[in-house]
Amino acid sequence: MDGNAGTSGSRSGGRKRAFKQQLESLASAGVSDLPKRRGAKPQRAVGSSDASRGGTAKAVHAAAAQPPVADAATRIRSLDILREEVAGCRLCEPLAKARTHTVFGVGPATARLCFLGEAPGADEDASGEPFVGRAGQLLTKIIESCTLSRDEVYILNVLKCRPPDNRRPQSDETANCRGYFEKQLEIIAPEFICCLGTTAAQALLQTDETIGNLRKRWFSWKSSQVICTYHPSYLLRNPPAKRDVWEDMKLLMAKLGVQL
Ligand code: URA
Repeated sequence: MDGNAGTSGSRSGGRKRAFKQQLESLASAGVSDLPKRRGAKPQRAVGSSDASRGGTAKAVHAAAAQPPVADAATRIRSLDILREEVAGCRLCEPLAKARTHTVFGVGPATARLCFLGEAPGADEDASGEPFVGRAGQLLTKIIESCTLSRDEVYILNVLKCRPPDNRRPQSDETANCRGYFEKQLEIIAPEFICCLGTTAAQALLQTDETIGNLRKRWFSWKSSQVICTYHPSYLLRNPPAKRDVWEDMKLLMAKLGVQL
């Protein structure tokens, strides 16, 4: 929740959403009991099940291979601190002034795969969650076509605030948000990052190359392997390009060990 624009009610809604996500991340990392806080009742994470612990080739969170229990909790805490920082950010004053919510990211802190998009649109600004509008619904379909579910992967954007009229992020805005999206990816340390579209690919890889040139190649970013594909919004305008995205997903899933 945006600490500036929200009422105290909506702020507490944001905190609840962050807490729910924290519990879900813990559950998916195999943590079913949380340490007692002074004065707090013992808590049990929701949704912890054998299924959520993975164990099949399809599981896209690191807990499947070796449950990093302490690690997961640290990552979740670090993400929470960063989320709060983002919520109060006013580095791009015009965007901060116009926003309803900052849009931080969703998914398990231990995700093996992150999808990096461009910036929130109107639906994301309204809800505080990335990729929930038309492009987001298409991204969800792409993820599900890969036999994964949306809540197995982490989804974030380069910009955390909506640019006016959904225009492309400006270079100063990307520079202002770089510390946030890079830190977010460093905390999660996914094995794979899939950049969706030109803005994400160019921002993460710090290149001017076109998305057409960046596709079908593997890059390294810190400890992650990076692949680039077209943005779902481009696919809405140009449906034949879905075939290309499917080819990119096949490359990515083969490396993840997901059989299609
Ligand atoms: N496009 C993006 O890049 N991100 C969103 O969250 C929504 C649309």
